[in-house]
Amino acid sequence: MEAIESPNKITGDSANALGMKFPYRIYCQGKPCPGEARYKVASRWSDGFTWEWKTYGLYCETCVLKGFTCGLAHQKVCAFARGENLDKPMILELSPGQPSSQMVRRVDLEQLAELGQTTSGEARS
Ligand SMILES: [Zn+2]
Repeated sequence: MEAIESPNKITGDSANALGMKFPYRIYCQGKPCPGEARYKVASRWSDGFTWEWKTYGLYCETCVLKGFTCGLAHQKVCAFARGENLDKPMILELSPGQPSSQMVRRVDLEQLAELGQTTSGEARS
């Protein structure tokens, strides 16, 4: 079990913090990692009327694949109320000074992570 166990992380304020220009460094949320966060793993949550980002975590390039895999696992086990929907997580490139809506999605990294996930086939208990 790595990272994201607390539901607070999903509804946490990191998404809000990232919506603004961030004047400070953001550190990777990978376990003992001193790296600077370069990517955000997030899903779009919707109740059918509105949607918002649910952030799983912020990671450096080393940890982002693992973080994304955790996000995938988390998304799968989440139970939702009727009408609610949580999209598959995606990897977004953090770019200082840019609003979330302009973040670049890194599908290539997502695919890498999913390949890694199938080879090491664990992550369910
Ligand atoms: Zn890291």
